Amino acid sequence: MDSSIVLFGPPGAGKGTQAGRIVNATGKPQVSTGDMLRAAVEEGTELGRTAKGYMEAGELVPDEVIIGLIEERIKQPDASGGLLFDGFPRTIPQAEALQKIAPVSMVIAIHVEDESIVERICGRFTCASCGEVYHDLFRPCKVRDICNSCGGTEFKRRADDSEETVRTRLSAYHSQTSPLEAWYEGQGLLRRIDGNHTIDQVGEAISNLLI
Ligand code: AMP
Repeated sequence: MDSSIVLFGPPGAGKGTQAGRIVNATGKPQVSTGDMLRAAVEEGTELGRTAKGYMEAGELVPDEVIIGLIEERIKQPDASGGLLFDGFPRTIPQAEALQKIAPVSMVIAIHVEDESIVERICGRFTCASCGEVYHDLFRPCKVRDICNSCGGTEFKRRADDSEETVRTRLSAYHSQTSPLEAWYEGQGLLRRIDGNHTIDQVGEAISNLLI
């Protein structure tokens, strides 16, 4: 398996928004554990039933569940050229498990302050057809209620994007996920990006890392 890239940062830092650009630049498929879990919850699978309560509460799903999911994902044929991990790993045990099964060449950490995160997450929504990400204030549709990318007219908001849950997700991030930054820095893999700029500026900074 070729080397993979990890997109790292707090919820709402813009990982999902920036992932498309990295996929285009590198050809590595995006693997978002959050998206995989939300699909499992919607399908009502055993995985979904296990994950649902944790997700609704804004807590992390147990490591063994997530690691099992990733072990299966990297067996898929499209993983041979490496993957773009978005929202994984989120704990040191997850990172250690990843290290054993797939080489990582770069960890892109997007930095955003907590208060901007609450503001960003609470207004966000996505196109139900193509997944394009929008925000009530910062990135509304060009034509009201019509997706800029695909013309879709149905939109979704995440159940865990309420202010209270966002604050729990942020505290999970600070206590369980942020220690990974030093862990990856110690391995010389960490690249920091200031996420407090426009989507295009952050995208540009990320593109420069990929050259
Ligand atoms: P996200 O879409 O990445 O914000 O993830 C949404 C929710 O899914 C998180 O708040 C967690 O409950 C769960 N989740 C996603 N990825 C992971 C992970 N790598 N480890 C533990 N829980 C996760």
